[in-house]
Amino acid sequence: MSDVSSHRVAVIGAGITGAAAAHRLVQPDLAAEVASVVLFDCEDRVGGRIDGTSFAGLDCIDTGADAFLARVPEAIGLAQAVGLGDDLVHPERAGAAVWYDGLHDIPEGLVLGVPGNPISLSRSGLISWRGKARAMLEPFLPRSSTNHDNIGTYMRSRFGDEVHERLVDALIGSIYAADTDNFSLAEVPQLATLANDRSLLLAARRIARHSAGTASASAAPIFGAPRGGMRQLVQATVKTFEQHGGNVRLGQEIGLERTGSGWQVGGDDFDTVICAVPADRAAQLLADFPASTHGTDRADVVMVTLHVSDDEFPDRLRGRSGYLVPKPVQRDVTAASFGSQKWAHWVPPGGGQILRVSLGRDGAPVLHLNDDDIVARTLDDLRRHLGVTFSPSEVRLTRWPGAFAQYRPHHRRWVDAVRSSLAPGIFVAGGSYDGIGIPACIRSGRTIAERSVSATSGLSP
Ligand SMILES: Cc1cc2nc3c(=O)[nH]c(=O)nc-3n(C[C@H](O)[C@H](O)[C@H](O)COP(=O)(O)OP(=O)(O)OC[C@H]3O[C@@H](n4cnc5c(N)ncnc54)[C@H](O)[C@@H]3O)c2cc1C
Repeated sequence: MSDVSSHRVAVIGAGITGAAAAHRLVQPDLAAEVASVVLFDCEDRVGGRIDGTSFAGLDCIDTGADAFLARVPEAIGLAQAVGLGDDLVHPERAGAAVWYDGLHDIPEGLVLGVPGNPISLSRSGLISWRGKARAMLEPFLPRSSTNHDNIGTYMRSRFGDEVHERLVDALIGSIYAADTDNFSLAEVPQLATLANDRSLLLAARRIARHSAGTASASAAPIFGAPRGGMRQLVQATVKTFEQHGGNVRLGQEIGLERTGSGWQVGGDDFDTVICAVPADRAAQLLADFPASTHGTDRADVVMVTLHVSDDEFPDRLRGRSGYLVPKPVQRDVTAASFGSQKWAHWVPPGGGQILRVSLGRDGAPVLHLNDDDIVARTLDDLRRHLGVTFSPSEVRLTRWPGAFAQYRPHHRRWVDAVRSSLAPGIFVAGGSYDGIGIPACIRSGRTIAERSVSATSGLSP
């Protein structure tokens, strides 16, 4: 780290965002501007909402995220930079389904739930004939306004309620634990790009055809993960940060106080503070944070992991990665992932299958239930969906309060208002602001790290 600069930076929050920010700050091109970097977390581990534990005889089965999007460069790039390039694995080519009074294959040619292959949609048993007829009108409709910035309003106006509820909301809602009737369209970039065209179906068809045409040439996998679990990515990032002279302080509930020319964090003085914590936590730390608005809304999730026997796991589910449950027919379970079908390295040494089952989303609270109740409801829903009464040999239940930030319509205006209200030297980054997925968090952490340096050094990275 620099011996000329006296600039000290505190990064609060050692999730993937804070780890990526801290790692970026000690890279050679920025290190000359930064004398020292300290990464703080109130927990006694790094990772935040990324973690895993041993399960079913395997060293690490993720309790939260199990993969990152590999078709954008940030997570792959970070993994390579911190020495995990050769440890990355990719899911098996197993198809997902939607449960709606039975399991239905997801129709081919979908782009984030938007139908791009009318023939495949017309053959799907997931949508009624009435719903299909309504969806097929889409290419003939005039352009719809996106001024409301609401996914549900927009999709319902284009395709009708069935396609929205059984495909678009089922897919996007399960990724973000969201109610897409109250979620920003602009913050789901793939959808926002489709919405630039008059017809979504025609735009999605172009993309689906292009992907099919290039599928064999670019067999690039869509998702990836370190073989040792997603926590390995955060741990390796923090370790590399330390090897470059960074300091880590864990298990410390810290406050933030203004000093004459800077900030005091955890008893030390800093010139710059990057808050890589969820927005509701940042609002508690920062006096300048705008009065609470729906920008800090988050949805709670519970992840139930089951180890079931091979005998109980029906053959008809083999080769499937899992299924989603659309909102109109949800009771408690929102999605189930057949982990040992999805990941080749998740096959328990003693046999059997690992299932990861998600409960809870925006508008469907779950944390008030006790553990026994949650497990009972999980098994009951699986019986209803799959016709199997599982008797798992191992059960793990992980509660994730505030699991997913909920990006309300016009989220970007709120983010801009937050950033413009903060005192000089204070920055916010992470899943509450700049994208929920892991690559977006990495990009946010790195970008804000660069911005914090350019703001204080006059550089413009
Ligand atoms: C169940 C689940 C499944 C998911 N699946 C996927 C997936 O498959 N793919 C994907 O891309 N994304 C997934 N995500 C989303 C992704 O994991 C998160 O968006 C991302 O990890 C958030 O990272 P972050 O660093 O912004 O926040 P966090 O991980 O929340 O990190 C913030 C850190 O700040 C610390 N902190 C908070 N307050 C303070 C304080 N006052 N002082 C000190 N430290 C503080 C916390 O302890 C925490 O470590 C999933 C999330 C969950 C919960």
